Amino acid sequence: MAIVSHNPSTGETLRTFTAIEPDEIDDRIARARLAFDRHRSTSFQHRAAALLRAADLLEGEEDRWARLMTMEMGKPLAAALAEARKCATACRYYAHNAERFLGNEMVDVGPGQRAEIRYQPLGVILAVMPWNFPFWQAMRFAAPALMAGNVGLLKHASNVPQCALALEEIFRRAGFGADVFQTLLIGSGEVERVLRDRRIAAATLTGSEAAGQSIGSIAGDEIKKTVLELGGSDPFIVMPSADLEAAVATAVKARVINNGQSCIAAKRFIVHEAVADAFIPRFVAALEALTVGDPTHEETDIGPLASQAIREDLVRQIEESVRAGARVLTGGTLPEGPGYFFPPTAVTDIPPGCPAYDEELFGPVAAIFRVKDLDQAVSLANDTSFGLGAAAWTSDAAEAERFAVELEAGQVFLNGMVASDPRLPFGGVKRSGYGRELGVFGIREFVNIKTVVYAEGGGGVRTG
Ligand code: NAP
Repeated sequence: MAIVSHNPSTGETLRTFTAIEPDEIDDRIARARLAFDRHRSTSFQHRAAALLRAADLLEGEEDRWARLMTMEMGKPLAAALAEARKCATACRYYAHNAERFLGNEMVDVGPGQRAEIRYQPLGVILAVMPWNFPFWQAMRFAAPALMAGNVGLLKHASNVPQCALALEEIFRRAGFGADVFQTLLIGSGEVERVLRDRRIAAATLTGSEAAGQSIGSIAGDEIKKTVLELGGSDPFIVMPSADLEAAVATAVKARVINNGQSCIAAKRFIVHEAVADAFIPRFVAALEALTVGDPTHEETDIGPLASQAIREDLVRQIEESVRAGARVLTGGTLPEGPGYFFPPTAVTDIPPGCPAYDEELFGPVAAIFRVKDLDQAVSLANDTSFGLGAAAWTSDAAEAERFAVELEAGQVFLNGMVASDPRLPFGGVKRSGYGRELGVFGIREFVNIKTVVYAEGGGGVRTG
């Protein structure tokens, strides 16, 4: 099977790789397992030194990594540079904090006993990752997992094989031991074989619901721990007391970030009717002012979608929504010429039951709704199978608190846009998945939280 790297700006093939055969998959897993036996007994200081070197490589050669990302999946070069830098920040964060997060903890269980909690690595972790943040998604798994003493096997999305190999190179050059982080160039059809292998301890997936269902059910069958980071259809709520100018500027950024292909991009704009006639025209005008084009050009705001299949799916979603009664306010018409470009688009008057209401729109398409009050805003925001992020704009503290409590999401940003931060837990509820990445919670996902109780004086352990 061929794994092909394309340039989505032109459609041209950049490089073609041959997927590795089952024998080599087996060999790689065996090497990963041996690497775990060595890596688990290294000190935090040793691992931190390697991760700090990885951070230096990410920053020191940021131009190379950024160009690779832009070439393979089309994000604007400035965004790709920011991604490389963010990866370096996450490496430094876990290098400096892992020992504190995973140090032994004493628990007072009364006289005669001493109890402690230890955090020990699980083993070889399979990471199945998406193309949209080809460095960041993989790094936010790898930095904490490797610091915890686990080793990683990365099955990256098939359209970013060069990024996948670059990540392997970074960890190797940073000084992690042989095979501590390996890239497996395989298609998704081989994931089950790897996941069922008894030498694989656990798995993490960032991707679609369909992939989540598959990996979650296989891992369930094998009784293996998983973290699933799936899709989202984040609401962006605008209330009458909001700073409208800031809300419009942030709404545009939150929708088109990463060419509109971010799990935590704002996708549904829920606007109070008192400010709808002020907000919507400004928002639409700001979308129309964006520059779509070559992602290597500095003035470009939106590059191409990552593949023809994603573009076709977005067209289908808009067409079906329009047939159901939705109205296109701007965009929606594909440009002529090569590449998978898509114009910034806004739709409104969206009835329940159509794709713009029910599905994730993975591209620069905003779904706009009007509501009459806060209750309706919350109820519409929660009327989705997803629960990843949510943003709400209000200067009323009581309203803000209601949004913080009532929005069904893994993260709620008030007067801002949803973003990941190495220091803050990140993940979803409902069909956006389970488990958390980043922060202290992320590093504790793939560890054995072990209770150890010592009876003092060798007198036996109390029960009850
Ligand atoms: P995808 O098709 O699920 O692909 C993601 C990864 O899963 C790829 O490596 C893919 O391999 C693999 N895969 C696909 N189907 C699989 C299966 N049945 N079994 C095992 N592996 C499988 O996702 P996508 O459409 O490329 O990525 C976009 C999705 O990811 C969106 O829904 C987005 O919201 C979500 N996402 C979520 C987060 C988050 O943190 N929650 C972050 C980013 C993206 P192949 O490429 O070889 O098919």
